Amino acid sequence: MNIMVSAAFINPLSDEGEIIVRELGDFERVLSDNDDLMQIVTESRSQELSDDSLIPHNYVDLAIKRIEWYAKKKNDRNFDHKQYDFLFNTEIVKFDVIAFYLLCQAVGVKYGPNSRESRVMVESQGKLIENRLGKLSKNERGEIVTNILNSLISTTHLKWTFFEDLISTKKLKLHDLILDKGEIILDREDFLERFSNKIQGRKPEKMYEALIGDRIKELVMIKMVMQNTENYILKVGEISEREIEPNPILLKLADKISEVLAASVQSYGFGSGYGGSVKASVLNPKAFPPCVKKVMEGMKSGGRNDAIIMFLTPFISYARLYPSVFSENVTKQISDVDPTLLIVQNEVLPLIFGAAERCSPPLFEDQPQDKVNLNAKLGFGMHQKPELKNEGETTWYTPMSCEKVKIHLPSLCKPDENCKKIGNPLSYYNRMIWKVKKESKAESAAEQKDDKR
Ligand code: SF4
Repeated sequence: MNIMVSAAFINPLSDEGEIIVRELGDFERVLSDNDDLMQIVTESRSQELSDDSLIPHNYVDLAIKRIEWYAKKKNDRNFDHKQYDFLFNTEIVKFDVIAFYLLCQAVGVKYGPNSRESRVMVESQGKLIENRLGKLSKNERGEIVTNILNSLISTTHLKWTFFEDLISTKKLKLHDLILDKGEIILDREDFLERFSNKIQGRKPEKMYEALIGDRIKELVMIKMVMQNTENYILKVGEISEREIEPNPILLKLADKISEVLAASVQSYGFGSGYGGSVKASVLNPKAFPPCVKKVMEGMKSGGRNDAIIMFLTPFISYARLYPSVFSENVTKQISDVDPTLLIVQNEVLPLIFGAAERCSPPLFEDQPQDKVNLNAKLGFGMHQKPELKNEGETTWYTPMSCEKVKIHLPSLCKPDENCKKIGNPLSYYNRMIWKVKKESKAESAAEQKDDKR
């Protein structure tokens, strides 16, 4: 490993990164086989080399590998880090920076900033930085984080409003930061100067390490690079709207990015359930458990708001979009399984809104502000409707367990025979779907037999 790691390895949008981009020369080179790149990949310490497809041959291949790494790491339980070890070899920096710019441009040109692809690109950059920092020595890590922060923040008097974008998009939370008179304190000396005489009974240096230290500096740096990545994609999108013909290499790469994301969800997102895979499919209300059927009819007495928002919204959304959440045990966002949000709009929300309307009094007529809470439970933040740009501001709530239903909404739980072996209404639904399928298969086999007679 080099003594001095280039800032561009962590922040491709740095001055060093820009120099690398300028040195690329002819853009068409991004598709040519590059021996230097392949050599760096094959010489990376723990790199798996058993298959040629594991080795990127050119800049575009490397760009795809970058996204593939993120998608597989997130979704594939058999993820093998050795297949992507080259991404952590500091010598790859001059190729990696170009791959980063190719990805941002492809996403910006084809999908724009409010797309799932854009979100994935920004998140993957954040994760890559975290993982890269984790592989550096303590000294290298501290040095590079300080260098990058110094280049991103030019003032010593840092008002909290400097992070307005990051705070409003919930990338950073104010309570993560230490404020003094409206200014954010990151620097050790600054902290000691301001607080040393106010701290009693503990060493101010220790307090600094506990409250700020490397952890907060890294967090701020990573979130700033992520925000700048998002801003760059936005800028590319705006420029491309004015241009007539986007570069076909970028358009092809954009298609490939979507393919990689779709493949990662299809191949790794859904695993085994009851005797077979529990795939996301159109909802079958006949397979709903008694508690869900009751809410679907509309709540006539107490517990209306919680029944619709806390109970029904997670149930319907997971049952339709990600029924194997508990067996997979992989956290997802809705756009991972419904990239355009069309299923949410056309199938999930109408069912929930229908049930809300059947309540007396109807929920959203009575309390329209509760639409915001519903939206938050789907992971789209405190807003009126689901929009990709807000996704991740809140968490997509998983369905309540039977135990919780019995405690918080006891009037809903009227168990039937099928409730005996399950611990969550979603498991009831999956089991019933599987049963229905098995029965209809048996029926059609019997019918076929009859036909042959
Ligand atoms: S046991 Fe569970 S699934 Fe059955 S009615 Fe009660 S809460 Fe619903």
